[in-house]
Amino acid sequence: MRKPGIKTILFKLVAAYGDRTWQKRLEPVDELILTILSQNTSDINSRRAFKSLLENFAGWDKIASAEPVKIADAIRAGGLADVKAKYIKNALMALQKAAPGFDLRFLARGKVRDSREWLLRLPGVGMKTASCVLLFALGMPAFPVDTHVYRVVKRLGLIKDRLSADAAHLEMEKLTAPGDIYRCHVLLIEHGRKTCKAQRPLCPVCCLAGICPSREY
Ligand code: SF4
Repeated sequence: MRKPGIKTILFKLVAAYGDRTWQKRLEPVDELILTILSQNTSDINSRRAFKSLLENFAGWDKIASAEPVKIADAIRAGGLADVKAKYIKNALMALQKAAPGFDLRFLARGKVRDSREWLLRLPGVGMKTASCVLLFALGMPAFPVDTHVYRVVKRLGLIKDRLSADAAHLEMEKLTAPGDIYRCHVLLIEHGRKTCKAQRPLCPVCCLAGICPSREY
């Protein structure tokens, strides 16, 4: 079976789940910290940890100067609290110097590649976190590849099986029109959660079954 095109996939996903349009949900620094908290845990847990962090400190500057153990205590709900507390503190300390007022809006004026490089220099920030900040908070055409997106695009044959998740970010940005990146990212995650599940993909009821090279009957 020929590799399906991203436009065709998107058309079918929109028909199945509805369209998704970008709306800013958080300030960039908030998005950055929330995404660090989301590593290796569920959305519910990371949001609970984020809320607790905001409730326990009077601002990002206070967290930057806090003892890591105090930060860890505030984010226990998100798992890996000690590791994430160090990442958060170190990232905020670096931001204090590089982005006064923790204001990252200047990144939207650059190219995706340059702004992502800037974010990647922060402690604890990898490709997915940097791309989430650029896409969700700044509306830039960066394509975060999480575990769902990675699995689904491999099954669809959009990327090679052996391509790393980091490299998949760049490949998906090449394959997808900039204006479609947000809806494509969000819909692939939804599809991965509801239908193209990790263990037992629901191929017989999948909206992409007719074009998917990995369909299981
Ligand atoms: S046909 Fe199966 S493997 Fe392919 S996208 Fe759908 S659920 Fe996933």
